[in-house]
Amino acid sequence: MTAYDFVVRNGTLIDGTGAPRRAADVAVKGDRISAVGAPGSLRCDSEIDATGLIVAPGFIDVHTHDDTALIDNPGMAMKASQGVTTVVCGNCGASASPYTRAEINHFLSLLVKKPENIAPSFAGFAAKVEAAGPALNGAFLVGHSTLRMSAMGEDLMRPATTAETAEMRELLDASLGEGAIGMSSGLFYPVARAATTDEVAETALPLGKWGGLYTAHMRDEADDILAAMDETFEIGRRAGAPVIVSHHKTSGRGNFGRMRETLPKFEDAMKRQEISFDVYPYVAGSTILRKEMLDRAERTLVTWSDTMPSASGRDIADVARELGCTPHEAADRIHPAGAIYFMMDEADVQAAMSHPGAMIGSDGIPFDTHPHPRLWGTFPRVLGHYCRELGLFPLEDAVRRMTAYPAARFRLTGRGTVRAGAYADLCLFDAATVIDTATFEKPISPAVGIHSVFCNGAAVWRDGKSAGGRAGRVLRLQELQAESRAGG
Ligand SMILES: [Zn+2]
Repeated sequence: MTAYDFVVRNGTLIDGTGAPRRAADVAVKGDRISAVGAPGSLRCDSEIDATGLIVAPGFIDVHTHDDTALIDNPGMAMKASQGVTTVVCGNCGASASPYTRAEINHFLSLLVKKPENIAPSFAGFAAKVEAAGPALNGAFLVGHSTLRMSAMGEDLMRPATTAETAEMRELLDASLGEGAIGMSSGLFYPVARAATTDEVAETALPLGKWGGLYTAHMRDEADDILAAMDETFEIGRRAGAPVIVSHHKTSGRGNFGRMRETLPKFEDAMKRQEISFDVYPYVAGSTILRKEMLDRAERTLVTWSDTMPSASGRDIADVARELGCTPHEAADRIHPAGAIYFMMDEADVQAAMSHPGAMIGSDGIPFDTHPHPRLWGTFPRVLGHYCRELGLFPLEDAVRRMTAYPAARFRLTGRGTVRAGAYADLCLFDAATVIDTATFEKPISPAVGIHSVFCNGAAVWRDGKSAGGRAGRVLRLQELQAESRAGG
């Protein structure tokens, strides 16, 4: 008879808090870490030898579009292979629920491939995720654009009326009551661009009541980014919600170097309200193909196209040559499509990523034919390239930005720290070798150096392949809050 299910022995613990690494054994029973002790102090029939490995909390990918990937692809290899154990879904204004229309809007097709995966209520959607038995945990934001499309149909190129805003607010209120953790907006996108600040702030009011948070793909990440930051902070203040700015960047050559303006502006606002931001470790972004983005980008790669599938993975300039037209005309002809845009400065990416307010989010788009490499590479790239090779921050700080810090900002009680009583979300990796292998040319490729990954005590990745664990949960707002009150 043994008190534990398994013990991870002889590892070097980095517990997520930023504290210095130390030698420790970690014992797991059921879905929890039951003890953390001196090396050799914890014994069990089932032991994992972690000699030479870092034992860290499972990583939290705070910026994903994995809402329905958890259902269609429940093994979640693209994330488990990176050491990720929790994904925050529903970002950039787009969520799979509550969506009350029969047709999938073009914008939602970014994250929904099957109509049966959308749901008119958050409770209905969460039940679908649970029925799929995903390997990883999911926490879910409600997208403002999804609310808009529910309330306004296809008539989106105008501000919502008072009645429509009230309907959106009620849908959000119900969703938060059913366990969604907050609201996201994506005012950058055509489906939401006509929304006024008032529309979003008045829709977001239930956040304050429930203790939900607000994430924003801001209206502008280029010339007008400072005004967009003010708008985002105002919405958070009016809703009484913590703000998380998504994938912070200053995009376009004319805006290279402008982290010198945005980071001090963040610091100033952080004195007055809770604000943080996430960053992905690449100089290229990825979203739908839009003509106006072509001029801003140094180079544009097509990630998928419904009308011309053979364009996937190719430079839009090559596609245009083949079609005998300009890149702008090519963008029209292969629409609907997705793209990768090279539009950021490496120094800006590093400045943002190493800022004390920054956490890591992949922003990977799970169903793209030729995805951005961030889908498979983000976390190992931060650990291997930015931390080990460039020395941008100590390993303890890199891990903190992926674990305890996002858990605190997203209120994910019991996650993100290795300590007795916490959930057994663990990542064992080799600090000397961990690195991403996914590239812009060959984007679907698991990282190396990730030894094994556990989610709620179940092995989800081991020896370079899926380990079969399917103990992932829907992390519901009220359950997280109840655990927090209980001291979890
Ligand atoms: Zn976004």
